[in-house]
Amino acid sequence: MSTYKFYEQVNKNFDKAAKYTRFDKGLLNQIKVCNMVYHITFPIEKDDGSIEVIEGWRVEHSHHKMPTKGGIRFSHKVDEDETMALASLMTYKCAIVDVPFGGAKGGVKISTRDYSVRELEKITRRYTFELIRKGFIGPAVDVPAPDYGTGAREMGWILDTYRQMKDDLNAEACVTGKPIQQGGIRGRTEATGRGVYFGIREACSIKKDMDKLGLDTGVEGKTFVVQGLGNVGYHASKYMTEAGAKLIGVAELEGAIYDPKGIDLEKLVEFRKETGSIIGYGTSKELPSNSDIFTQECDILIPAALESQVTGDNAHEIKAKIIAEAANGPTTADAHEILKDRGALIIPDTYLNAGGVVVSYFEWLKDIQHVRYGRMNKRFDESSFRKIVNEIENISGKKFSDDEMLNLTHGAEEYDLVDSGLEETMITAYQQICDVRDEHGLDDLRTAAFISAINKIGIMYEQMGIFP
Ligand code: NAD
Repeated sequence: MSTYKFYEQVNKNFDKAAKYTRFDKGLLNQIKVCNMVYHITFPIEKDDGSIEVIEGWRVEHSHHKMPTKGGIRFSHKVDEDETMALASLMTYKCAIVDVPFGGAKGGVKISTRDYSVRELEKITRRYTFELIRKGFIGPAVDVPAPDYGTGAREMGWILDTYRQMKDDLNAEACVTGKPIQQGGIRGRTEATGRGVYFGIREACSIKKDMDKLGLDTGVEGKTFVVQGLGNVGYHASKYMTEAGAKLIGVAELEGAIYDPKGIDLEKLVEFRKETGSIIGYGTSKELPSNSDIFTQECDILIPAALESQVTGDNAHEIKAKIIAEAANGPTTADAHEILKDRGALIIPDTYLNAGGVVVSYFEWLKDIQHVRYGRMNKRFDESSFRKIVNEIENISGKKFSDDEMLNLTHGAEEYDLVDSGLEETMITAYQQICDVRDEHGLDDLRTAAFISAINKIGIMYEQMGIFP
């Protein structure tokens, strides 16, 4: 990691926002500190018979709501500071989008490329075993999810390990982001990127903000560049391009490309699969280094890789008018000030990438209800709609085609409901943040989002009191 202490960066943002709230210092401290930090080391036997010690963490930042919730990251850059920072961001994120969880985060200090699938499975299962032993996982306690370097496969291993050790009726709710067959939910894989798109769309719909930037309202026609084409970066780019925005730059580990004529996302992904690199795609030009993606001409910059990417060192050169923080903590506090002074609109991570935890919440609810969304009402709704449409046909004398009929009488399935819930959440939360911004006369959505979170958590503590 860079010299920027991530947890300190988060707390700087917290302190800045806390000044606009009415809570006393002690209560603010209680909101800010990490409630439990668990540092684990354990051995695994590698495929060649050698033994390696693996280091990991699980941090439960806030117990003001239970269970706590947050992803598990596999990266060689993981450390305690990063895990604490990410856990605390989860608390504020959940509060901002009204998801009833405290924040948590897990990390295992490995580079996934250095391990076979068998070894990754061993690491994941042993890490889970250690969490179970110390009470750091469970449907009512702490519920992990995917993050950088992990996905549905790892979540499936976590569930299986948990289920083997616990007779828990709600076992499936001990982790989210699982494969569908193991109690996962349709729409979870793409949820964070989908939420990023909804958030950018909301931001671009506010005329006074777009006027300030000299941009038209709407996503359509806007150019964007993305750092990181993983789960979040890929899906955010997919929905942005589907809505008519133009992808003109991409950075990945191997380097960065830029093409003002536009980059076809699916063809680029295909090209990378075949060649192992994004470099050399189509008519794009290769940039000197992958961090040069930040300084390219574009309307929207989407950092979707890791934290501390936009710093005091490169913020001056950023030309994008909108910084859409898909990753957690991509902008350091000093870079934030530089960008803000320059008049850029920063859509903060605590709001923008909350789609993952929102849909994880839906998944957790599904698992403790033991019933798929839409199962009870889809057919009933469809038959009611059909009766209404038939009545309309009778009264109007118009006959709908089979396609029109299907469209008009479609009953909501799980994916439809998840998507609708996510969209509603992202719209409502953005409006709340803007209301706070306007109420305090701020020009900064990050501070407004933090104020919104601190107020919600602070009021909860006031109402429930502190356990003696
Ligand atoms: P991922 O592992 O699927 O993808 C990350 C991508 O970034 C990888 O393709 C990697 O090669 C690339 N990358 C890493 N370093 C890079 C660099 N220096 N330059 C260019 N590319 C680089 O991870 P993800 O789940 O998409 O997570 C990305 C970010 O989004 C993280 O900050 C994570 O905490 C955050 N986030 C993820 C979720 C989720 O649901 N997955 C939810 C909220 C926030």
